[in-house]
Amino acid sequence: MTPLVEQGYVMKDREETIRIVTEAYEEARKVIPEGHVATYIPELGKVDPNQLGICLYRLDKEKICVGDYNVRFTMQSVSKVISLCVALELLGPDKVFDVVGAEPSGEAFNSIAELDLNSNKPYNPLINSGALAVAGLLVDKVSFYDMLSFAKKLCVDDEITFNEAAYESEMKTCSRNRAIGYLLESKDIIKTDVEETLKFYTKLCSLNVTAESLANFAKILASDGVCAKTGQRYLSGRTVRIVKTLMLTCGMYDGSGTYAIKVGIPTKSGVGGGLLCVSDKRAGIGVFGPALDAQGNSIAGINLLERISQHLSLNLFYDPDWEDVEIKEKLV
Ligand code: GLN
Repeated sequence: MTPLVEQGYVMKDREETIRIVTEAYEEARKVIPEGHVATYIPELGKVDPNQLGICLYRLDKEKICVGDYNVRFTMQSVSKVISLCVALELLGPDKVFDVVGAEPSGEAFNSIAELDLNSNKPYNPLINSGALAVAGLLVDKVSFYDMLSFAKKLCVDDEITFNEAAYESEMKTCSRNRAIGYLLESKDIIKTDVEETLKFYTKLCSLNVTAESLANFAKILASDGVCAKTGQRYLSGRTVRIVKTLMLTCGMYDGSGTYAIKVGIPTKSGVGGGLLCVSDKRAGIGVFGPALDAQGNSIAGINLLERISQHLSLNLFYDPDWEDVEIKEKLV
């Protein structure tokens, strides 16, 4: 593949990149008051909404970190990417897509209605119903501790811990996920014990990571599954391709389309404020910003990524050769 630099992509030098990221960070902080931390999981309601941090790796280049990039927070829905990776590697796409679709739902992340009315399987693995279906495939085959060590490997972070307080808090208030679980059992999609499946799913949501751990994971996905640090392939090219495609089309729930237009980088959000952001072949980015927008995505995180995507040419569909070319003959 021709190096992106030779293709005309702007690879700014380190000083310039630090300036761009820092300025974007300062601007993005201004929208924090427009968001709110999640309170439906009481433990998340205790998190300071004013935090914002980013860690960005440009491939083959340096790492740039600004703000609260090493603060621990719960992974929440970002863990859906890890379960999906494990399921695809272990069982292959046919078995996975037997229980879950690959289409955007256009509904809230914890929606139940569309599942019963329009479809017999969850729309995709990155919403709650789909991730519960995937958890149902895994719970009898992989232990939580295996999942934890896989998460540590993918995030190149041995310090990832299980946040018991967040887990207990969510287990007390997860009636909606429980309802989804039993609905999936009634449709023969979850064939394992629903309560065990729910615990497995919620434990994975309760892993404590940092923006830096997410950037490490994003970097591996941006490098087609190979860890630059160890030189080892952790995920097959096929798994990584499927995961990135779903992140682009479904990773931001019912905000996925608007986000794709504004930012153009496959991303997965979580209600803990995390964003796992994979600029293919260009950069791996992790963001933490717990104040959320109406869709449950980090409000300042999106604002920050929009700025960075634009100034560092990270948008998947950006082509430097054509972007500013004037149209000579107007079509309309
Ligand atoms: N644990 C959360 C839930 O199941 C995860 C949701 C999210 O991050 N959007 O509701």
